[in-house]
Amino acid sequence: MWEEATIFAKKMKTRVRFAPSPTGALHIGGVRTALFSYLYAKKNNGVFILRVEDTDQSRYVKGSEEYIHQALDWSGLTPDEGPSVGGDFGPYRQSERKEIYKQHIDLLIKKGKAYYAFDKAERLIEARKIEEDNGKTFRYGAENRMTFENSLTLSDDVVKEKLQGDYVVRLKIDPGNEISVFDEIRGNILLNSSLLDDKILIKSDGMPTYHFANVVDDKLMEISCVIRGEEWLPSLPIHKLIYDAFEWDTPMFMHLPLILKPSGKGKLSKRDGDKEGFPVFPISWGKSSLGFRESGFLTEGLINYLALLGWNSGTEQEVFSFEELKQNFSVDGIQKGGARFDFEKAKWINHKHIIRLSAEELISLPMVKVKLERVDSSKHLALIELIKKRLFTINDLQAEISWVSERHPYDEKVMQKLKPKGPDIILEGVSKILKECNELKNLKNLLMLWTKENEINNGLMMQCFRFALIGKLTGPDLFGICNILGKNVSLDRVDNTISYFKQKN
Ligand code: GLU
Repeated sequence: MWEEATIFAKKMKTRVRFAPSPTGALHIGGVRTALFSYLYAKKNNGVFILRVEDTDQSRYVKGSEEYIHQALDWSGLTPDEGPSVGGDFGPYRQSERKEIYKQHIDLLIKKGKAYYAFDKAERLIEARKIEEDNGKTFRYGAENRMTFENSLTLSDDVVKEKLQGDYVVRLKIDPGNEISVFDEIRGNILLNSSLLDDKILIKSDGMPTYHFANVVDDKLMEISCVIRGEEWLPSLPIHKLIYDAFEWDTPMFMHLPLILKPSGKGKLSKRDGDKEGFPVFPISWGKSSLGFRESGFLTEGLINYLALLGWNSGTEQEVFSFEELKQNFSVDGIQKGGARFDFEKAKWINHKHIIRLSAEELISLPMVKVKLERVDSSKHLALIELIKKRLFTINDLQAEISWVSERHPYDEKVMQKLKPKGPDIILEGVSKILKECNELKNLKNLLMLWTKENEINNGLMMQCFRFALIGKLTGPDLFGICNILGKNVSLDRVDNTISYFKQKN
């Protein structure tokens, strides 16, 4: 029966939704769900839908819907249908669909699948306490529903009267049935209906619960495949019962593995990021929480890394452009087990995307442009060409180009190492050749010739020269550095370093 439903869903047009609740910033786990939904939709020539699940007014956080739109935009996951683009299946904000839920709950009540409940909080607390005192779990359901105040126990007249006050609507779950659900990643899952309480479908504020609105909307929006995080797996049997109550076919379901802390123990949280110094949001949230964007990630870098959190292509390939992900994505590659978050790996993937871009493409990015503001624009191209291989994030630029405007303070350890080797004499030679050199592109050959003729160790000469130009021994290609600085600045730095070593003698 259940497999038949899956087969039915497979024949539908592919429509996949991402259904976040506006309760704060979107965690990268949410972006990963959006990404897998998007990739699955695109791979199957389908539609990617954004639905805002804002029925829980107590958890609503101002600005978060706006944030969701911006985060998806930056991530390149622009919805085909949603609150801002519209579409034929709207409204796409649940708070604007109250009338629809009302009609549907009426239908279930009429079918005898749901009922009104009027019990006061104190009565429920008391009933719970009695059960728990006896070491049992309290469940409002088949075993005890006839002892409470609801439309199954009260007369029609009383019900009518009570409907003027506070009430909830509950799903009437028959006990003793084996509920069988099928997840594309995890396979068949069984749960006995006696373990479930009569779930609330409409809350006392008149709003639907997550379960009810989610099922009604997935059905009415003709969602063919529900993709969401594993934390929603326990809800699946409840959803199945709601589909059954309406006598609706179910869509397919895929529950994605959790994203785990770097230690592999437990779910990744914002606190892990704060503690270990990495972002967990795609773009910044408020002033205090930087996103991947502000941390110097390219969209493609983050997206590629997130794709690997729970999916692999079955090949050795790990670096994928967005287009390649769309082509290669398949459900078979989604893993069951949790995916450990590894910020170093994320940076490595980002690095691979940085070096895929040409220097021209890089300098046209606003996030790169601002970092080059203090450098003469005629040098931008050559500078980026010189250092791009060294960038793991765009923010690394700051440290990688700091030598352009000013030499680093001399590294004391390097100075001690070079001092006994006559660096001032070597640099005097370098200075002389540099002064006479009319074209910097010939400098390397001229210096090589000079070291050879004078039996000077080439490596040592280069170390001294590099130390003079940038104050340390690490960095990009030495002659590239010299080229960016130009003859005069390079000469200045060499001459200053000669004096520096002379003072140290
Ligand atoms: N609104 C739920 C959330 O915030 C959606 C879960 C689902 O996709 O069904 O994650």
